[in-house]
Amino acid sequence: MTLSGKTALVTGSTSGIGLGIAQVLAKAGANILLNGFGDPGPAIATLKASGVRVLHHPADLSDVAQIEQMFSLAEREFGAVDILVNNAGIQHVAPVEQFPVEAWDKIIALNLSAVFHGSRLALPGMRTRGWGRIVNIASVHGLVGSTGKAAYVAAKHGVVGLTKVIGLETATSNVTCNAICPGWVLTPLVQKQIDDRAAVSGDLVQAQHDLLAEKQPSLAFVTPQHLGELVLFLCSEAGSQVRGAAWNVDGGWLAQ
Ligand code: NAD
Repeated sequence: MTLSGKTALVTGSTSGIGLGIAQVLAKAGANILLNGFGDPGPAIATLKASGVRVLHHPADLSDVAQIEQMFSLAEREFGAVDILVNNAGIQHVAPVEQFPVEAWDKIIALNLSAVFHGSRLALPGMRTRGWGRIVNIASVHGLVGSTGKAAYVAAKHGVVGLTKVIGLETATSNVTCNAICPGWVLTPLVQKQIDDRAAVSGDLVQAQHDLLAEKQPSLAFVTPQHLGELVLFLCSEAGSQVRGAAWNVDGGWLAQ
């Protein structure tokens, strides 16, 4: 399929899953608006190799005004946001009684509220142009819980609920909204959790194995490429009646 002439805004795409999804969409011909912290130079260079137009906006998505500025830039430079991938997210692990209030507020702002703000800003243009795709990168933690991840699990369950509402509100249009719920993907966000385990046990290889073995029966990581290909399917005609879904890609995590 070709996404030539379409523009995709992928939040949190300077690394990890977001960058992987942006790469798949760029290869399919979509222009890309990147977002995220850190030096976007290498990501921009990789994506431009696909011959598409690429820009970066450094909005901190926990700040509503900066989200609005990013959408203004998208409209000004590309004329549209046809595909919105709400991907940016952070994690903090602590039991509820010790969970820092600032970490709770930050996770809810980025992992949940920014998905609402991005969607509300993208939808009017999608409706006017008669086509659009919103894909929310939730998590298996949007469907089940785990200890120590109160804010993350609450936010991701919220994203799955928001996805259903937007899926219903757009049901008679050519705009769809779905969530993807990955299991473990080896990105900086998960590497930190492996490193934290290894700091206790002193064995990095064992820490990685244990992390997978506890939850993910395949004992293999999901890759950003796997997730990008699913986003591409959701952008295709074959995916046009997938609406309000929460699609797990999790090496069997939720089959248990
Ligand atoms: P990552 O840490 O590799 O990347 C996160 C991206 O978000 C980076 O580009 C970072 O710069 C950006 N970011 C962080 N704070 C931001 C902010 N305030 N404003 C704008 N951008 C910000 O993480 P990842 O593992 O690629 O995670 C991406 C998404 O996938 C997250 O929503 C995460 O919850 C979800 N997810 C990850 C896994 C996994 O195993 N890695 C599993 C399920 C779901």
